[in-house]
Amino acid sequence: MSQPLPGAKEHIEAARAAAGVVDDIAPGTALLPIERVGVLGAGTMGGGITMNFLTAGIPVTIVEREQEALDKGVATMRRNYANAVKRGRMSEAEVDSAMGLLTPSVAFGDLAACDLVIEAVYENMDLKKDIFARLDAIAKPGAILASNTSYLNIDEMAAVTARPEAVLGMHFFSPANIMKLLEVVRGAGTGQAQLATVMALAPRIGKIPVVSGVCPGFIGNRMLSLRQAQAQAMLMEGAAYDDIDDVLLDFGFPMGPFQMSDLAGLDIGWHRDPARIETVREALCAAGRWGQKTGKGYYDYDENRNRTPSAEVKAIIADFAAKQGTAQRTIGKDEIRERLLYPMINEGAKILDEKMAQRAGDIDTVWLNGYGWPAWTGGPMFWADHVGLNEIVSGLERRGLDVSPYLRAKARSGGTFND
Ligand code: NAD
Repeated sequence: MSQPLPGAKEHIEAARAAAGVVDDIAPGTALLPIERVGVLGAGTMGGGITMNFLTAGIPVTIVEREQEALDKGVATMRRNYANAVKRGRMSEAEVDSAMGLLTPSVAFGDLAACDLVIEAVYENMDLKKDIFARLDAIAKPGAILASNTSYLNIDEMAAVTARPEAVLGMHFFSPANIMKLLEVVRGAGTGQAQLATVMALAPRIGKIPVVSGVCPGFIGNRMLSLRQAQAQAMLMEGAAYDDIDDVLLDFGFPMGPFQMSDLAGLDIGWHRDPARIETVREALCAAGRWGQKTGKGYYDYDENRNRTPSAEVKAIIADFAAKQGTAQRTIGKDEIRERLLYPMINEGAKILDEKMAQRAGDIDTVWLNGYGWPAWTGGPMFWADHVGLNEIVSGLERRGLDVSPYLRAKARSGGTFND
């Protein structure tokens, strides 16, 4: 583990405290009472989100379309709580009282009694709009209507309601009962009281809130998509995927992108037709390489989940690169590190320029608490200040990558993100 950069620890604490403050909301803004929460969808996220409130003593009504999915979701929550007891994190009595606050239901109308409703249904705008229109029709006056969307536009969801002030994003991270970050997405019409209420609610359920404006992927996933794009591009240009993962591990991340894909499951969202192969991922799925769950994905796994890079996978990748006509070359770890990390800093600069984040420290708080960015660095923007913005700009130029005018101007003036 690397030594913390000078001032990193202090920065992390200060940034985290500052992130909870929304600059243009008057202190003392009256908060809305949250006595019962509704969660729509009992899948991966809905269940985890629900547990946060139950553990904090706040009653939850969880609604699914069908009894079977509901039962499955509730059973998963029970299992997660049982694990918490096994690990000594909770007592049986605490779990009983948490589960006692849960009302599972298949009746959408039961959400009418809730002060805050969080939808966690599939990531599909038409479905989300339909849900928001239906929520608008039944939710009690004053209720807050939130979406857990990862990328979609909150303003479009608000537009189908007659109460845009009630609508905002509450973007939890997986596993939602564990991960600390909560991105609170402020729509164009989100009310001050509603935003202030959710910011105050976050610490009650053990979360660290950070406000984001409306843009695809918000702060975290927007920056992540730049890193993913570079990882994929380098894969096609001849970089070894284990080198790409190792660069991030050496930097201090708990996992690299390909390890992460294997853990999550390569088959998620796969069309399930082994004859239709248009991406490396589809080729891996067709070969039964679904990730850790099938013992092989990008890597082969032994019984202790130790990974070994696979010759079969390297051949699949080389085949794709040949079909694309992408020239192959050796890509060193310095280039890999710069191409993975510098574009994220550039995107962070754009996010600041567009005022999608209130301050650079908010971006650091997002990455430290939602994506495993290593604490020794103080977060991406603090780290970039340490590396030097001139070096980030020349690194991006060296690799032929986009440099935002905001970053260029800051570098030229000798400024830092955190000044
Ligand atoms: P999931 O497929 O595990 O769960 C979705 C659930 O919604 C399913 O149980 C489904 O039966 C239910 N559902 C669908 N339509 C419904 C309806 N009309 N009424 C009631 N229930 C309905 O999906 P997930 O991974 O939990 O993702 C849910 C949302 O959370 C998506 O918007 C996703 O982008 C977002 N999200 C996911 C992650 C993640 O890592 N999985 C992280 C952050 C945000």
